[in-house]
Amino acid sequence: MKTQINAGEFSQWLKDFIDTMKGRQSGNVPCGECVGCCTSSKFILVRPTDNAARTRIPDNLLFPAPGLPEGFDLLGYNEQGHCPMFIDGGCSIYPDRPETCRQYDCRVLAATGAETQDESDVMAERIDAWEFSYANDQSRRSAAAIKSAMEFLNGHAQSFPDGYVPPAASQRAALAVRVHETFLTSDTDDPQSIIATLVESYPVR
Ligand code: SF4
Ligand code: SF4
Repeated sequence: MKTQINAGEFSQWLKDFIDTMKGRQSGNVPCGECVGCCTSSKFILVRPTDNAARTRIPDNLLFPAPGLPEGFDLLGYNEQGHCPMFIDGGCSIYPDRPETCRQYDCRVLAATGAETQDESDVMAERIDAWEFSYANDQSRRSAAAIKSAMEFLNGHAQSFPDGYVPPAASQRAALAVRVHETFLTSDTDDPQSIIATLVESYPVR
């Protein structure tokens, strides 16, 4: 039988996810014992504003993030695929970890029905295990709109202006959340019209 883990009430998760993306709060993922993010060969973006993290991460572990302005760096991983700050089974700089680590919420991949074949086994299992609850019809409508948004982005990625639809599943899923209200209210199923609405209403940030 498939393992199920409570992902929380959908509308509450959605509000928290958006507030976290906007920097109004830290993420609140009930990770439990999971350390998938720290052990899955991920490059961690370290922003110029990650002052506390930068005092803890040795300079020689950081390198400039390709395509981003000066001051944005990446923290790589070791031969086991572990973040170098992951020591003795946990994050050695947890109170000072970068914003990327504070924000990341793998439930967005479950909420959008994103493909997980590029994720590690441990992360794919966790994403598959999340189960949301729904307090009311509005919550169910929002969930359906987010899945529709992701399906649309996947199906029409090549028709958007270059750079609009990110290739990485978690960034694409975050975009699906950002634009989902269009799929709650849209009265057209013409793809070109939907693309024009999204690009105008939700410009690249
Ligand atoms: S994969 Fe999900 S549950 Fe596991 S550590 Fe990352 S955010 Fe938490
Ligand atoms: S900095 Fe800490 S929380 Fe972030 S990936 Fe590395 S070990 Fe995990």
